[in-house]
Amino acid sequence: MATERTLSIIKPDAVEKNHIGGVVALIEGAGLKVKAMRMTQLTKAQAQGFYAVHKERPFFGELVDFMTRSPVVIMCLEGENAIARYRDVMGATDPKKAAEGTIRKQFGSNIGENASHGSDAKETAAFEIGYFFPGFEIG
Ligand code: ADP
Ligand code: MG
Repeated sequence: MATERTLSIIKPDAVEKNHIGGVVALIEGAGLKVKAMRMTQLTKAQAQGFYAVHKERPFFGELVDFMTRSPVVIMCLEGENAIARYRDVMGATDPKKAAEGTIRKQFGSNIGENASHGSDAKETAAFEIGYFFPGFEIG
C-alpha cells in the first residue's frame, strides 16, 4: 500500500449546520492527516469545472447551485490508501444507505446534500488537488 493524497470538501449543508469540527473529527479519528485546508465560497464557474465529469447528469444544475450557495471547507488529506479509506469514512452517496458512523450517515441530509466530497481514484485526486491547491506538490 502506498501513501496517497485525496481531496475532501465539507459541503455547504454541513458547514451551515456547524459540522466542520464533526467532519474533521471523523477524518482524524480514522487516521487520515489534514495536509492543507481552505475555506471559500465557490463560484459557479469553479463548481462547474470541478464537477465537469457530471455535466450531462440530470442533477448537474442542482449540484452546482447547492455547492455555490454558501462556503465550503476544502482539504487535502494524506494517508495509506487515503483515497479508498476516505470514501469509507464518508459512506455511500445517499446518506440513507451510508453505514453507521460515516460522515454522510451522521451529517448528510439526502443524496444531493450529503455533507462531503471525496476523490474516487488516483487520477481524479490529482486533478482535484491541483484544482484547489495549485502548486501544491503531490507526493
Ligand atoms: P459521490 O460524491 O459519492 O462520488 P457522485 O460522484 O455520483 O457521488 O455524485 C457527485 C455528487 O452529486 C454527489 O455527492 C451528490 O452531491 C450529487 N448527486 C449524486 N447523485 C444525485 C442525485 N441522484 N440527485 C441529486 N444530486 C446527486
Ligand atoms: Mg464522485
